[in-house]
Amino acid sequence: MLSPEMPCDEVLRQQILDDNELLDTPADPYLDTLVRVVREVFAVKTVLISLIDHDRQWFKSRIGLDITETPRTISFCAHAILDTQPLIVEDTYNDLRFHDNPVVINNPQIRFYAGQPLFSEEGQPLGTLCLIDPAPRQLSDKQLRLFIDMAVLVEGYLKLRHVSAQTEQLRAALSREQRKTMLDPLTQLWNRAGLDHFLPRHQQQADELGLSLGVLFCDLDYFKKVNDNHGHAAGDQVLWETARRISAAVRPQDVVTRSGGEEFVVLLLVHDAHELLQIAERIRNTLSKEPVETDNQPLHLTISIGAALRSAGEPPSSTMKRADQALYQAKGNGRNRVEFAH
Ligand code: GH3
Ligand code: MG
Ligand code: MG
Repeated sequence: MLSPEMPCDEVLRQQILDDNELLDTPADPYLDTLVRVVREVFAVKTVLISLIDHDRQWFKSRIGLDITETPRTISFCAHAILDTQPLIVEDTYNDLRFHDNPVVINNPQIRFYAGQPLFSEEGQPLGTLCLIDPAPRQLSDKQLRLFIDMAVLVEGYLKLRHVSAQTEQLRAALSREQRKTMLDPLTQLWNRAGLDHFLPRHQQQADELGLSLGVLFCDLDYFKKVNDNHGHAAGDQVLWETARRISAAVRPQDVVTRSGGEEFVVLLLVHDAHELLQIAERIRNTLSKEPVETDNQPLHLTISIGAALRSAGEPPSSTMKRADQALYQAKGNGRNRVEFAH
């Protein structure tokens, strides 16, 4: 195996990567959509947006792979960023750089790899968009052009994101070290600590904008049965997919968290109860309308939701408590429903 070399201007590259505030950030619904589309188009098992950090590659977006990072020394993408053209490995078994790489010999048993570097505004490669499959593959000229086009879209999105107000807010609110402790590795959502961090901030923001803080407690119905009947790994896949669907059902500025187990708490800024309940219904629908695909089989799942709108002067912790109680009611009233805390 050949470990990747360092790019010649690695210090600058790393500095620009750090400055982009991409590492150790929660999943992004737009990038998640993009990798999902790319996976469909190329019919591969795995698609990643990988960022090459000091001594690891960290996945900003991923589909078809359960881990959040790998060491840089075994990273295919760390090779790919050394060039401007895509790195294509049609069959890892025939490539001296990769044939005995642990991710070839062991899981995820990579046979095919295609990685196109993603460049920053300054022309530094931050990482790649890559395709991975456990079977050898070839890309036609047309597919290759399409793949590069997809990478251009990712690159464009990352550039716009870098200058967006949201990135500015994230930078001001949390250091990267803090962020790391607030991410749930399974779903790449904010965890309980993240929820505690964002709750008072969201309330303050609501006050500033003349809006109200809305809280949704969302809990999968009969989730234990998924683990019992289909195994813990299928349960994890359901949690991952649930996180994606909830994130896609809310707005970009809403904060989606996995507060524990199979419970997701969403913080929103809304005009009124009507708006809050519309979004809650959208979350409920997005779970029930289509089964969740797991490696074994599609599973039909539903979710119960408790909603609460903060009243004037109410401590946000008390709004949280009311949403939790409303969730309890939703469970008691038959599940797969939204209850509003009056
Ligand atoms: P209800 O409709 O009342 O919510 O029932 P439920 O089965 O969804 O809820 P219950 O609290 O009885 O079970 C939750 C299960 O979630 C139990 C626990 O083993 C499982 N769980 C918690 N965290 C994880 C995880 O990270 N991965 C997996 N696969 N399962 C988890
Ligand atoms: Mg449950
Ligand atoms: Mg629960």
